[in-house]
Amino acid sequence: MQCPFCGDGPMVRETKDMPYEYDGQETVIPHVTGDHCQACGEWMFSDRESDRIAAAMLEFNRRVVAARN
Ligand SMILES: [Zn+2]
Repeated sequence: MQCPFCGDGPMVRETKDMPYEYDGQETVIPHVTGDHCQACGEWMFSDRESDRIAAAMLEFNRRVVAARN
């Protein structure tokens, strides 16, 4: 598959731990799987994986806010 962002690089399926930061607090979202452009470095995720990532971020945000109060 060709990268839709730069139109150049091949997209390669990869799994990684994605660092995420909210309000100065850092976490890692484990085992995120997506297509990674070998040319520009952009990532593309399936709808299902996007939902999972968004849910993990929201959950972390909630915990950061809760810990502050
Ligand atoms: Zn690209």
